[in-house]
Amino acid sequence: MPENKRDYYEILGVSKTASEGEIKKAYRQLAKQYHPDLNPGDTAAEHKFKEANEAYEVLSDNEKKAKYDQFGHAGVDPNFGAGGGFGGFDGGIDLGDLGDLFGHFFGGGGFGGGRSNPNAPRRGQDVSASVNLSFEEAAKGIYKEINYRRIENCSDCGGSGAEKGSSPTTCPQCNGAGTVRVSQRSAFGVIQTQRSCDRCRGTGKIIEHPCKKCDGKGKVRVTRNYNVEIPAGIDDSQILNVREQGSAGSNGGPNGDLHLQINIRPHPLFERDGYDVWCELPLTFVQASLGASIQVPTLEGKVNINIPEGTQPGDVQHLKGKGIQRLHGRGKGDQHVRMTVEVPKNLNEQQKKLLREFDEQTGDKNYAKRKGFFEKLKDNLK
Ligand SMILES: [Zn+2]
Ligand SMILES: [Zn+2]
Repeated sequence: MPENKRDYYEILGVSKTASEGEIKKAYRQLAKQYHPDLNPGDTAAEHKFKEANEAYEVLSDNEKKAKYDQFGHAGVDPNFGAGGGFGGFDGGIDLGDLGDLFGHFFGGGGFGGGRSNPNAPRRGQDVSASVNLSFEEAAKGIYKEINYRRIENCSDCGGSGAEKGSSPTTCPQCNGAGTVRVSQRSAFGVIQTQRSCDRCRGTGKIIEHPCKKCDGKGKVRVTRNYNVEIPAGIDDSQILNVREQGSAGSNGGPNGDLHLQINIRPHPLFERDGYDVWCELPLTFVQASLGASIQVPTLEGKVNINIPEGTQPGDVQHLKGKGIQRLHGRGKGDQHVRMTVEVPKNLNEQQKKLLREFDEQTGDKNYAKRKGFFEKLKDNLK
């Protein structure tokens, strides 16, 4: 990673204590300013656009932001790993305790057997990861390659934990039950209690020749590369539940799920409201006065809209069905185009002269609101 990489906060021009909203706003401004569509052929703008994207990708993701705050660029460099997503296991919980952990989390209910049977199938753990999407990708859906960490069955021993050619044997002390009965003398007589078998550590099995790849645990932690289908219409901050793409289960139990957090980068022109898309269309006051036919961008490319004579700032035109595909549903939202009128600046003398002549010829009847405003003003001064 190059030494001269700029600070992400500096790139977005925000302080380290900036809120989520401030970061989003700053990014939106830069994206609008440097978007390649708006600056064709400008490599400096393109660089700034990429830089802002990269900064936003990290600072908009709480997990990545925390790492960046702590370790700088090294904390979020993709070469340093997939970036967490695996919760507590990084804290050093022995994989040998996985069985216990699953038993604890899933209570041994549900999959037959119950907690007393260490050989009962158990569902794997859910894992979480996040993905960053562009506005269009989320609107239209896409296959996206993601990397995340999960536990899989060891490929060398097929999950048994025993070296190839050997297999685990039933623990002779507990006969495979994983628990042993203990008799204790007490004031009320002899009490029988159950405790975890210490010989097999509650697994019911003895592995005499442990698999070298997984150290007899039967499971390994891997970074997985997965092409996940993002459904059209998903929105920012939603969690996509991808069934059975989490960690491997035990004893033939199903995989856990993958919880995928969706982060959507703001678009330079479009704003999303549910399944509707809003955009602003800046008109000259001449276009607004005389009417015009103007191309506006939509998710499906440019369309022509007719601006009627006498269009006012704030007027909205609706493009039916040009919005976002409904998630898991039929139909699309609409696009709304809000008109703004830009007042020309830095006029030369000739232009100013024309406007003065125009103004002299323009009477009260040409300005509906102005007329009303000054009439009310007169009434109030009486
Ligand atoms: Zn193995
Ligand atoms: Zn045992």
